[in-house]
Amino acid sequence: MIRTTLLLAVALFSGSLFSQMTGPVQSLKTTPDQARELASTITVEDMERHLYILADDDMEGRETGEPGQKRAAEYLAKQFAGLGLPAIGENNGYYQRILFTRQKWDNIELKLNGEPLRHLWEYASAPSQNTDRGTTRITELTFLGYGIDDEAYSDYEGKDVSGKHILIFAGEPVGKKGIYHVSGKDTISDWSNNNERKLQIAKEKGVETVFIIDPDFKTNVRNIRQETLDGRMRMAEQSEAERNTANVVYLTPQLARKMMGKAGKKVIKARKKMEKSGRSKSVTVPVNLELTQAKAVKELIGENVLGFVEGSDPVLKDEVLVVSAHYDHIGKRGDNVFNGADDNGSGTTTVLEIAEAFVTAKKQGLGPRRSVLFLLVSGEEKGLLGSEYYASHPVFPLDKTIADINVDMVGRVDDEHADNPEYIYVIGSDRLSSELHLINEHANKEYTQLELDYTYNAEDDPNRYYYRSDHYNFAVKGIPSVFYFNGTHADYHQATDTVDKINFEKMEKIGRLVFHTAWQLANQDRRIEVDVKK
Ligand SMILES: [Zn+2]
Repeated sequence: MIRTTLLLAVALFSGSLFSQMTGPVQSLKTTPDQARELASTITVEDMERHLYILADDDMEGRETGEPGQKRAAEYLAKQFAGLGLPAIGENNGYYQRILFTRQKWDNIELKLNGEPLRHLWEYASAPSQNTDRGTTRITELTFLGYGIDDEAYSDYEGKDVSGKHILIFAGEPVGKKGIYHVSGKDTISDWSNNNERKLQIAKEKGVETVFIIDPDFKTNVRNIRQETLDGRMRMAEQSEAERNTANVVYLTPQLARKMMGKAGKKVIKARKKMEKSGRSKSVTVPVNLELTQAKAVKELIGENVLGFVEGSDPVLKDEVLVVSAHYDHIGKRGDNVFNGADDNGSGTTTVLEIAEAFVTAKKQGLGPRRSVLFLLVSGEEKGLLGSEYYASHPVFPLDKTIADINVDMVGRVDDEHADNPEYIYVIGSDRLSSELHLINEHANKEYTQLELDYTYNAEDDPNRYYYRSDHYNFAVKGIPSVFYFNGTHADYHQATDTVDKINFEKMEKIGRLVFHTAWQLANQDRRIEVDVKK
């Protein structure tokens, strides 16, 4: 038996060091010169050829679900076919198809005593949070405190709210001296910030609609306004039928007061009592409401494009390295095409070139020993949806997936590096595996000599880039991931992100660095280790 003090020391040790692994990387069967030779197939000329096509107006900004994205997918599949890669996708092709839905309100209306109220001003309701259900007449609300059901405090205990519409406060009850009834301390519990949990409980209890009185309405309405205007795209598997939350409408405190009318006094009294005693009290509130929540749901298909190079080692080939980039972008507005040359035509092109280098290796009988999946995803600009879909429907088992190398925006130079374009931001390499970090550092030192900038790898980086590209969907599954990124620029997400502004020399160098890191990961004897505990 190990002493607990020792265990604790080990745990602290592994979490606290930036990189405890030092010294050389594992040796390979191939020589550095052979690797250099393979990397030399990654060239400015090839990159130009791909990117001038991918960032052409003809691709219409490659918006997921739109014809331009389909054309881009076809182009990518053709490249993989041209490299002689097997068609491992659906229908003997190269695609993993994803069904997306875009939800909008067809009609959202709330009437009080026959008078329509103002959506997004007095009340707010998001299509993505509600089930489509036409018009509901409501003659009675049940005031149910905070809608909390916890061991220490419950608004539901002893109450039957099945089929009812409830009215609750946002947040949670706080008693004398600022002690919260749920936590028993002066700190809030999870309930304060987790409306989703309240809506799940409500659904479980058979509640029809939850009206939430939201003192921060003005702040919180922003997301709903955004969604109502844009129409949010999401994966179809999170469908209406599987929705586990009750329908919800947020109210300004002013509107809530108006709705409660005479019963308002009782509600305020009940709330005061609850705050004091820590015991919930419900109040019946007669109302005359008509709520219409009719949705327009549009279904779209997006494609992930799969390029697979099978490993040469009879045992190691069951393990897979993923090299990913998103190829979708944000489409067009009228005649204005958002070409997305840097975002992320550059990463897509880089992955195509790395695939070619691996195919060259295979033809020469040099490996790779492990298998490599070149994963070009769509849906990134819609919220990392393509990679999220892959991570939840992996083509190869995730426990055999050794790492994800993600390339997103590598063709430009940001203001911070105007004097030295030979740099790259490296994000996430040390978060799960100090060995991954070491391998990338080593590859750069040996082959590419770029400035590796870790500014955005800081855990407190306000930009949160670590959470903002596709590698993150692998990292959350515990798979070591690294993200290569050149930073943003004035053309980021503008129609001016065009191919003429791309620095191909720089891209070639980054492509070679990514190749060497991938080459090491795919060929070393021992699979890289996950050693950083979070
Ligand atoms: Zn983008």
